[in-house]
Amino acid sequence: MSLPSFQLLRPKTLDEAVAWMARHEGEVKVVAGGTDLLPSMKQKLFTPPFVLDLRGVSELRGIRGVPGKGVEIGALTTLSAIEHSTLIRRDYPVLQQAAKTVASPVLRNMGTIGGNVCLDTRCLWYNQSLLWRKSCGFCLKKDGDLCHVAPGGMFCWATFSGDTPPALLCLGAEIAIAGPKGMRRIPLSEFYVNDGIVRLHLAPNEIVTHVRLPESSAGWRGSYQKLRVRGSIDYPLAGVAVALKLRSGRVEDARVAITAVNPAPLLVKDADAQLVGAVPGEELAARVGDLAASTAKPLTTSALTPEYRREMVRVFATRAVLACLN
Ligand SMILES: Cc1cc2nc3c(=O)[nH]c(=O)nc-3n(C[C@H](O)[C@H](O)[C@H](O)COP(=O)(O)OP(=O)(O)OC[C@H]3O[C@@H](n4cnc5c(N)ncnc54)[C@H](O)[C@@H]3O)c2cc1C
Ligand code: SF4
Repeated sequence: MSLPSFQLLRPKTLDEAVAWMARHEGEVKVVAGGTDLLPSMKQKLFTPPFVLDLRGVSELRGIRGVPGKGVEIGALTTLSAIEHSTLIRRDYPVLQQAAKTVASPVLRNMGTIGGNVCLDTRCLWYNQSLLWRKSCGFCLKKDGDLCHVAPGGMFCWATFSGDTPPALLCLGAEIAIAGPKGMRRIPLSEFYVNDGIVRLHLAPNEIVTHVRLPESSAGWRGSYQKLRVRGSIDYPLAGVAVALKLRSGRVEDARVAITAVNPAPLLVKDADAQLVGAVPGEELAARVGDLAASTAKPLTTSALTPEYRREMVRVFATRAVLACLN
């Protein structure tokens, strides 16, 4: 499979990148590490006339502490850099654990946090070659007019399959976005749309520039648990992140988030209400597991059955809470 032809744009500054995006609005696809976009372009899922390579924009790279405000991670920072950062490992362990489970070491050396946060949704009927998709009559997400997963409806259930976003949601992360109207910041929890086609609150001429981890969640205990077929490389088929703050043997604050079982990564509603103030124990962990499983809505978009993936969300959420408490 070959890449479709396109013109490569290589800005050196963020201003230049934003100007290119505005000039070719709707015709540009941003590439960072390319580990997800390039295979998708080979499958002709995207055939943009222009590809904007962010890698020359050095201001988007690196991890830095901002006094009183937490830590800012540039969108171009690689997952390896996050995995090996002593700052992240010490203060935000759930993110370090999630980053180190992404794909394989080689892909983590290329793949970036910005690309992981903006990852396209995935489906067995979508991540296929043009010939394969054509032989099935395509589908709603690309070029077709029906959904093979839920044929009666007009909704796409393709699954968000990134590992770091649930960890970032647990940490209360914000993202910074640059566009023709300047910069805007939003909580990551407001960035995702639980729809396999719409996916993100990101205009086609906008670029994610940074991820901000608040100081208030520094030092929280964390655990990320992931289901995949091949432990050495695969995307998650279910994933659970838990982060919590313990004081005097009781949970003072907590968040639980899931990935790879819905079109968006989601915070588990009311998990904090179960956990905060509670005396830790197996019963409490099991209750959080039940809540997480009821938030998961897996369908036949991915390998392994939906029933098994939902059950593993329950098991992983229970294990992750216990891992944080012990
Ligand atoms: C074999 C294989 C296994 C994988 N396994 C995993 C896995 O286990 N877990 C996982 O999470 N991922 C996995 N991936 C996907 C991918 O490697 C990672 O998600 C990686 O973090 C993507 O980052 P990237 O910089 O390469 O993104 P790219 O491929 O460059 O971009 C991905 C998407 O994000 C957009 N984008 C990138 N940066 C920005 C930005 N700054 N602003 C706006 N849009 C942007 C691109 O336009 C594109 O739509 C796997 C990929 C492969 C090929
Ligand atoms: S969930 Fe349906 S519409 Fe979405 S990619 Fe899969 S088959 Fe296509």
